[in-house]
Amino acid sequence: MATTDTKYIFVTGGVVSSLGKGIVAASLAKLLQARGYNVTIQKFDPYINIDPGTLNPYEHGECYVTNDGHEADLDLGHYERFLNIPTSRANNITSGRIYQNVIRKERRGDYLGKTIQVIPHITDEIKRNVKLLGQKDNYDFVITEIGGVVGDIESLPFLEAVRQLKWELGKNCLCVHLTYVPYINAAGEFKTKPTQHSVKQLQEVGIQPDILVLRTEKTLQEDLLCKVALFCNVSRDAVIQSIDMPTIYEIPLLLQDQKMDEAVLRKVGIEPGEKPELKAWRNFLAKLKNAKEGLTIALVGKYVELQDAYKSIDESLLQASIYNDKKLNLVSIQSEHLTPENVEAKLQGCDGVIIAPGFGQRGVEGKLIALRYTREHQIPTLGICLGMQCMAIEFARNVLGYADANTAEIAPESLHRVIDLMDEQKSVTELGGSMRLGAYECKLKSGSKIADVYGTLSIKERHRHRYEFNSRYRTEFEEHGFCCVGENPDTGLVEALELEGHPWYIGVQFHPEYNSTVVNPSPLFMGFVRAVIAHTQR
Ligand code: GLN
Repeated sequence: MATTDTKYIFVTGGVVSSLGKGIVAASLAKLLQARGYNVTIQKFDPYINIDPGTLNPYEHGECYVTNDGHEADLDLGHYERFLNIPTSRANNITSGRIYQNVIRKERRGDYLGKTIQVIPHITDEIKRNVKLLGQKDNYDFVITEIGGVVGDIESLPFLEAVRQLKWELGKNCLCVHLTYVPYINAAGEFKTKPTQHSVKQLQEVGIQPDILVLRTEKTLQEDLLCKVALFCNVSRDAVIQSIDMPTIYEIPLLLQDQKMDEAVLRKVGIEPGEKPELKAWRNFLAKLKNAKEGLTIALVGKYVELQDAYKSIDESLLQASIYNDKKLNLVSIQSEHLTPENVEAKLQGCDGVIIAPGFGQRGVEGKLIALRYTREHQIPTLGICLGMQCMAIEFARNVLGYADANTAEIAPESLHRVIDLMDEQKSVTELGGSMRLGAYECKLKSGSKIADVYGTLSIKERHRHRYEFNSRYRTEFEEHGFCCVGENPDTGLVEALELEGHPWYIGVQFHPEYNSTVVNPSPLFMGFVRAVIAHTQR
């Protein structure tokens, strides 16, 4: 259903951060996509880092990776999980990248002697990046989420670019503003003043929001919604409430019930037509509601206390559990606290174990302890990236007898570096954007469990790591039953290991979690969950 011009929708936030702009943007995109429009979502982050790749999970949660090898904000993961279409480098821009582009042009002499200023040079570069995405795949809608909160100094150039675009594009440009309506317990009242102030702040920079989404913990009554509409210059049908839901996947339906998509379409001059069914989406939600207890999986990692550090793994596991009709009980285990003495007690009751990706030494020994236990006790285990590397180290130490086996990342002096740096990485001096990043093809070994779960011998999964399995050890590993079942066809690098005679002990160098969506769950997570369920039914 192609429209003549691309429509641009900006999502801004006010009052406080963490209101879930990304989820609202993804939900609106889902509703428009369900109506047959070609939709994409973009995230602008006002910080100066070129990308979030160098930020640690305490700062920024998980780092997501796109097919084209961009280290991205975790909201891109939500976009892909909701829309089931891939994002790219163009879907995530930071202030750092905007400034870098402008400064590069200045050094090249592109500006012909002009003074370079925030307006128009930085704002022009922002606008260019918004429009570039729209033209890229002929999108009907580009939804751009502006990170941060209105009033932040660093988001001002982005808001100025939005103001200019609204002026230039007229009806083809909308602003959805997300705010918070607190409930004051002592007074027994909701308060709309923060919303009014936040809209005023937007108006002060020249932007009149077209749609307001009010985040709330309890249902807001009609008179309050009318009051917000009156005070904020928006029509009543453009005031939407977004109440806390048991799962984020219900939010598209919550917004659809309030006809948010219809309000958006009317404002850009399109007659909405029939309400879409969202069949596959509703099917997932029905399964989620009917899922039965009885699936406990442990995630062993060093960032487990952070809510967003393993976001894509959490969501992939949830999706795979739901499609297997199980309610997931995910147990977080801090790998730093594991010892040979307590591992049995800590893993008690866990039917399957995932060993998380990561960087650096902290928590690695605990991962090795967990792995020895699950390998020897036949507990289904999936190792992802560093998780696979730990599987190789544990096997080399405890089965092959190389007591000093390690990864070059932690012990470059070890004589048995079963995980090592490849030649092309040895000359790398900068940390940002210099790992093996993005989607690579992988050939699977016919007859292996992994080939069986994928149902094909050729897959593409995304990577984010610097170190690799050391091929010198491949034959010795295979002679002892830990076999290479996934190989990069161009380089011969080992991408997946599978242990013979174990119900499920598979390590993958890639990150299957970046490819799992609500309507298209990852085959590897599906297979893992099936193996875990089978293990509980022994
Ligand atoms: N630190 C490891 C490497 O760089 C693994 C990275 C990861 O788990 N994403 O190779």
